Amino acid sequence: MSDKNPILSLVIPCYNEEGNLPKLIEAIRTSLEPLKISYEVVITDDCSKDNSWKVLKELAEKDPRIRVQKFEFNCGESAASFAGMKASHGKYIVTMDADLQNDPKDLPAFLKALENYDCVCGTRVKVRSEGDHFIRVASSRIANAVRNKLSGEKISDAGCTYRAFKRECIDNLKFFKGMHRFLPTLFKIEGHTVTEIEVSNNPRFAGQSNYGVWNRLFASFYDLLAVRWMKKRMFKFKVAERIN
Ligand code: UDP
Ligand code: MG
Repeated sequence: MSDKNPILSLVIPCYNEEGNLPKLIEAIRTSLEPLKISYEVVITDDCSKDNSWKVLKELAEKDPRIRVQKFEFNCGESAASFAGMKASHGKYIVTMDADLQNDPKDLPAFLKALENYDCVCGTRVKVRSEGDHFIRVASSRIANAVRNKLSGEKISDAGCTYRAFKRECIDNLKFFKGMHRFLPTLFKIEGHTVTEIEVSNNPRFAGQSNYGVWNRLFASFYDLLAVRWMKKRMFKFKVAERIN
């Protein structure tokens, strides 16, 4: 049964993930069925070149909780993730990769942490070396250190897009390419509370990563300066009294 306003929306960007999608949906079901909560899975096909869209349509036909949309042209992970958030209806939103690196078995821990925070970010720092090549681990450590230093943050794993947050967090979200790396900071700017939990980090099940060392490390530097500026220049105000 589908629920028009479910408790949970899983929002997943997808580019050339045909080999991962059926297993991903199965893993999500296994993790969420025991919790007895209503949920939907919103997957945005970022104009994949493989059979992802065909697989997605088949999955959606079998289960109305699986809602799928396809971009006309490739727009990138941030855009696919953002379009999924906008199409979703859940009280809580969880963003995750389509490649099973993010393990649906961590979902209950995210939901638990959401009882006390507006946004919960997954961090793979402790388990990183188990699922990833050392160059990837090293480049992500450097990127995190630079990001934290320049944006005055303490996010241990900004590259981990396995996150859960309340719907209101995206009400005023600024939208730009590469936004997915700065989501916790952007939420904090809007006054939302953010925490981290440790998550598992599986190797990619099928297909290939879309990022190399170069774009992981350097492509987001430009965005970082914009976020740094935004953080410094945003004004905060609270109306104390209002008449008429
Ligand atoms: N992705 C996307 N559009 C793109 C590149 C990636 O929708 O142009 C999706 C991809 O299918 C995956 C997520 O974004 O679900 C993260 O990509 P990837 O797993 O390649 O990144 P990594 O985990 O290696 O950093
Ligand atoms: Mg991935």
